[in-house]
Amino acid sequence: MADDKYYTLAEGCPFANNASAVLMRGKQGSGLGLLQDTQLIETLAHFSRERIPERVVHAKAVGSYGEFEATRDCSDFTSASFLNKVGKKTPVLQRVSTVGPESGSADTSRDVHGWAMKFYTDEGNQDFVFNNTPVFFIRDPLKFPSLNRSHKRHPQTHLPDANMFWDFHVGNPEGIHQLLILFSDRGTPKSVRYMHSYSGHTYKFTKPDGSFKYAKIHVKTQQGVENLSSQEATRIAGEDPDFMIRDMFEAIERGEYPTWNIYVQLMSPEEAENYKWNIFDMTKVWSHTEFPLQQIGRLTMNRNPQNYFADIEQAAFSPSTMVPGIAASADPVLQARLFAYPDAARYRLGVNYQQLPTNAAKAQVYCPFQRDGAMRFDDNYGGDPNYVGSWIKPTKFYQDAKGIRASALALHTDHEKWVGEVSAYTSEITDDDFVQPAALWEVLGRVSGQQDRVIENLVGSLTGVKYPELRRAVYSLFGRVNNNLGFMLQERTEAVIKTVQN
Ligand code: NDP
Repeated sequence: MADDKYYTLAEGCPFANNASAVLMRGKQGSGLGLLQDTQLIETLAHFSRERIPERVVHAKAVGSYGEFEATRDCSDFTSASFLNKVGKKTPVLQRVSTVGPESGSADTSRDVHGWAMKFYTDEGNQDFVFNNTPVFFIRDPLKFPSLNRSHKRHPQTHLPDANMFWDFHVGNPEGIHQLLILFSDRGTPKSVRYMHSYSGHTYKFTKPDGSFKYAKIHVKTQQGVENLSSQEATRIAGEDPDFMIRDMFEAIERGEYPTWNIYVQLMSPEEAENYKWNIFDMTKVWSHTEFPLQQIGRLTMNRNPQNYFADIEQAAFSPSTMVPGIAASADPVLQARLFAYPDAARYRLGVNYQQLPTNAAKAQVYCPFQRDGAMRFDDNYGGDPNYVGSWIKPTKFYQDAKGIRASALALHTDHEKWVGEVSAYTSEITDDDFVQPAALWEVLGRVSGQQDRVIENLVGSLTGVKYPELRRAVYSLFGRVNNNLGFMLQERTEAVIKTVQN
């Protein structure tokens, strides 16, 4: 702290004594408090209000700052300016979290890890809200709250509950691909530095001429993938539940800046129409052989937050925060997240959350139709009109300066024509849903002992399921991935249960 700082009350009144309440004191030295003790009252009142709502998911997180450097000129498939010049650097905020457990929980718990990044580009913020797995448990967004509740605490016991967890997944088996990854070695990553992350969703990279490519984005650790064994993860959860926060913070303090290479897989709309998988189904990946990874940049995290609350807890990320040249696809889960994430930020941080320093764009912001509201910190657009009229042409200055036409800007609807009918979405499972998990089972077999550890990890969870018919349904679900997997799971789980019962 600077030497010239002196203590004041929150309104600026210099105050001599910051360590004592003012009392009407009796003979014993203690006494009655006084309402006129503004310092005491303000301090207590602020203390009981200093928590903001914890995120209902992704509460426990590691955060840092760094930069993205473009390694390819991507103007052949996107007009996004941060991708259009080799060597161009863009500041980035990164927040990596577990999903289900609360803010005080152990960060080595077996869980999917959320991977949020805010690119402060010269055309506004670009948020990527990824996971450390390439697929997701569901493809119908209506199931999102149920999925997460089943992974959290039981409404009666307030305990995590294997019955609830497996009942959800047996009832919604499209998550089998993600389950297999979750119970593999990658379900307990060693730390943030050693994980990959993936867009999961299909995005669109767009050009001013109205053309676009579908894209999946991959963020690949240059530290190498490293994982904890289940036993190590459990031990560390007891010894140092904040292991991942510490690991990242200390690595950056030591000057060991972790890096990731960022790649895209690209697909034309014509290829998408004929592809064997529905590219808007988040439970599927695109083959690396058919759609090779192309590097577009490098990410380096090199600065710790100055203040966790201001920089990381107040950070809000949303897939709807996009720059010209990047757009959402028709993935229904992505479409729902476009609404749900900023809605969560409005609830958690207030309607002016975009003005908080960690969320504020570094590019020009002029959005005079969003003004007033609680905690407005700037000049609120002064006397400028607050209605749409003839007084300002949309982005006129920007168009003139860059010599581009209006449709080149962020009008996400320009690139597609849809004809369809309104009906309920069905995400019923078919044999096709087991093709990629079966391929993954073979991939897992390439690392010595990994298939065995998947079985061991699943057995550890399934022994907590008290209903035999639910356990049988889980064996049969995994048996559809691989017969032997289902069989081994049954044999080992029932053997453990029998031993415990005897
Ligand atoms: P490839 O042989 O080209 O790629 C296999 C992929 O599996 C690699 O990306 C590898 O990651 C990844 N992998 C290895 N171990 C695990 C694990 N424990 N959990 C999750 N991923 C792991 O195969 P395909 O592209 O044909 O895909 C085969 C299967 O691999 C898919 O069905 C899918 O389940 C899985 N996969 C595919 C991805 C894709 O984008 N195509 C991405 C991730 C997984 P790494 O490069 O680090 O070795």
